[in-house]
Amino acid sequence: MAKFVVTPASVAQRDAWAGGAIPEVERVRPGLWSVPVPIPVNPLRYVLVYVLELPDGVAIVDAGWNTDEAYDALVAGLGVAGYTIADVKGVLVTHIHPDHYGLAGRVREMSGAWIALHPADARLVRERYDDDVIDTLVRRERALLARCGVPAATLDELAGASMMIRHVVSMARPDRLVEDGDELGLPGWDLRAVWTPGHSPGHLCFLSPARRLLFSGDHVLAKITPIVAVHPQSGPNPLADYLDSLAAVRKLDVEEVLPAHEYRFMELAGRVDYVMAHHDERLAEVERVVGASDGVTCWAVATRLTWSRPWETIPSYMRRAANNETLAHLAWLEARGRVLRVAGEPDLWRLP
Ligand SMILES: [Zn+2]
Ligand SMILES: [Zn+2]
Repeated sequence: MAKFVVTPASVAQRDAWAGGAIPEVERVRPGLWSVPVPIPVNPLRYVLVYVLELPDGVAIVDAGWNTDEAYDALVAGLGVAGYTIADVKGVLVTHIHPDHYGLAGRVREMSGAWIALHPADARLVRERYDDDVIDTLVRRERALLARCGVPAATLDELAGASMMIRHVVSMARPDRLVEDGDELGLPGWDLRAVWTPGHSPGHLCFLSPARRLLFSGDHVLAKITPIVAVHPQSGPNPLADYLDSLAAVRKLDVEEVLPAHEYRFMELAGRVDYVMAHHDERLAEVERVVGASDGVTCWAVATRLTWSRPWETIPSYMRRAANNETLAHLAWLEARGRVLRVAGEPDLWRLP
C-alpha cells in the first residue's frame, strides 16, 4: 500500500513530536490555542488540549489525564494564553478515554465549568469507573476473552489489564449531553458536534464551518490509526461504525485537522482514504488467515497477523487490545458474510 503522508500544519509541532519532545504551547489562530498536556507512561506522550477564547473566559476541548503533572501543564498553558483555570467555562470532551476525560472533573471542581460528552459515552462512565460495578465489567471482559480462545493461564491477567489506570480518571458525570449535529452555542464560535462512533461509542469531533477547522479527537490522527476493538462496552460491530464515521468526516469542508495527539495537519480526505485502505488490507489479511485453517479462534488469528513487532514480544495488555481489534475485524467480515462464526467455547471462525 502506497504511503500517504499528510502535510503538518505546524512544522515546529511536527518536529517536536518526531524528536520525542513535548511541543510548545501555540497560538493556532486568533482566539485559539494548542496546549500539550503530558500523559504518563504512554508512547503518545501528550494530549493536545485546545483552548477556545470566549468573551468571558475560555472553553477547552479535552482535558488530559488526572495527574498533578497534567493539571500543572494545563494551568501553565492557560497562563501562556493569558487565562487561569477559573476562566474555564466549559470542557468539551471528545470521548471517555482517560487521556481525554480524566482531568475534566478536576477542572470543573476548580472553575465551575460544565462538562459535555456524548450520551453513548456518558452511559459508560458509571460502569467503567465505579468500584461497586467494576467487577461486573472484568467478568464480562473475561467471558469475551474466553470465547476468543485466550489461553486459560493468561485469562485473568488479560481481563484485568486496564484496571491499573482507573485512578487517573476522576468520577465526573457530564453536565451536558451533546448529540450529532448539536450546536455548542459558544459565543464567537460556530462549533457543531459530529458524532463519530467507532474508537469509542460516543466519540465526538467538533467542526467550525466558518474557520474550516475540525477538532478530531482520536478519530483521525496524522500518523497512527486509533484502536477500534470489540469489548464489553463496544457495539457489536464497531469497525462498521468507525468506517461509517470516517466517511462522514470525509465529506466535511475542512482546511486543518486539530487532533488530540501527535500534530495538526492538512488533507483530511487524503488521510481518511489512507486509513480506510489500511482497514481494507487488514480485513483481507484476517480473511486469509481464517481461510488457511478449518476453524480457528480469534486469539489464534491475532497471533498469526502482522503486528509492528513479533507477537512474543507484545506485552499482555497490548495482546488483549490486539485480540479485541482482531475480533472487530472478524465481526465486520461476519456481518458481510465473508467469514462464519461457529459459536462455542471458544468460538471458531471459518470461511463460508
Ligand atoms: Zn481514545
Ligand atoms: Zn487519546
